[in-house]
Amino acid sequence: MTGPSRLSGPSRLTVLAGPTAVGKGTVAAHVREHHPDVWLSVSATTRRPRPNEVDGCHYHFMTNEDFGRMVDRGEFLEWATVHGRDQYGTPRLPVEAALAQGRPALLEIDLQGARQVRRTMPDALFVFLAPPSWDELVRRLVGRGTESEEEREVRLTTARAELAAAEEFDVTIVNDDVRRAADELVSLMRTPNQKRD
Ligand code: 5GP
Repeated sequence: MTGPSRLSGPSRLTVLAGPTAVGKGTVAAHVREHHPDVWLSVSATTRRPRPNEVDGCHYHFMTNEDFGRMVDRGEFLEWATVHGRDQYGTPRLPVEAALAQGRPALLEIDLQGARQVRRTMPDALFVFLAPPSWDELVRRLVGRGTESEEEREVRLTTARAELAAAEEFDVTIVNDDVRRAADELVSLMRTPNQKRD
């Protein structure tokens, strides 16, 4: 969906993915608050904002038309339709700028997006955030209470497939505690040669 990145050489980019409701957003928010040296990408989305979500901070909320224009201009590093409904994408330029400044950069995206980034930036570090168990994942999804029953079913179906993808990643972090998981992530980001292979 996107062309090869202009970046070359060692990358300090880290991609965090994992099943829906595993707490990727919460871990990313913890990193934003407690590790200001880490640059966190702000995605674009066609989804409507939830209460307390701020445009330009949590997401760049935009219309389908504006999103489509960015796709056509090749302005996304990756983009995907998530849960068969809304579109999400990582604006390319801010990522390139952060990396050019030598800042450790973090993308919190879905599995489809992670696979696209692996094709264009294979040197990035790919981190899978896993729930302590399947039952715990279901509990978190139900507990969040932001989706309708129908949406929840769609998300659980996606989550089952996403859990099976852990082996595609360089590292798995279990989100048993948000602060611990975020600290493990940041310490991996700061360690050179973190990739297993
Ligand atoms: P939510 O609507 O709950 O904020 O996010 C839904 C899903 O979209 C999550 O799995 C999240 O990781 C993913 N997502 C958020 N931003 C992006 C993005 O820029 N690209 C892709 N591919 N997925 C994203």
